[in-house]
Amino acid sequence: KLIVFEGVEGCGKTTQLRRLRDWLTQSGWGEFREEQIQAEPVMVTREPGGTNLGLELRRLLLEPGKETTIQERAELLLYAADRSQHVEELLKPNLLKGVVILCDRFTDSTIAYQGYGRGLNLSLISQLNDIATNGLESDLTLWLDIDVEIGLARKRQQGEITLMEQADLAFHRRVQQGFTELAKAHPQRIIRVDANQNEELIAEQIQKILNAKFTQ
Ligand code: C5P
Ligand code: MG
Repeated sequence: KLIVFEGVEGCGKTTQLRRLRDWLTQSGWGEFREEQIQAEPVMVTREPGGTNLGLELRRLLLEPGKETTIQERAELLLYAADRSQHVEELLKPNLLKGVVILCDRFTDSTIAYQGYGRGLNLSLISQLNDIATNGLESDLTLWLDIDVEIGLARKRQQGEITLMEQADLAFHRRVQQGFTELAKAHPQRIIRVDANQNEELIAEQIQKILNAKFTQ
């Protein structure tokens, strides 16, 4: 299973992803798949940066040198390159082994950030996502929906000053709008989680969603 976490800056993806990993591991999700006991039953990864190539691309994208400017379409293609490598090298082989993969960002981030945020053509991005994933879709995407201001304030507190410092509030609002539209368009795949609540409540809600979706 491929389970993706999405949302604007500071929505708590990374925290919730780790909590879900611990919960899945403790509740023995992998146990009934005896033939795969050599494989890790639950795996955590992210985009950009889920592979060695991806780590280099992540650094280029998020911490470019002072002399380096990245054009919008070049940025889009670098995210696509990261995704393509990630899908072939890590996601597909592990999904085939039956590993449950928890992924921090995937195709919807590209639509939200490069599409809604930067204003690049949405159908072009959608085609590019198809090329990069070679058709791989998430089984479930959890959209952690937080107020943009609250998320940005959290990031600032954590001292994370990457791309978000350069972008204005209006940009992040457009990204948020992107996730909102995506959730409307894909109600089966994308489930919204209210991420303004406390960490514990969010974790419980996510566990409920998984139980409902993957156990009959
Ligand atoms: O919080 P996270 O580590 O996922 O943030 C990665 C950064 O990459 C964010 O600042 C986000 O703005 C940026 N990003 C982007 N376009 C994407 C994916 C991530 O601008 N498609
Ligand atoms: Mg994070």
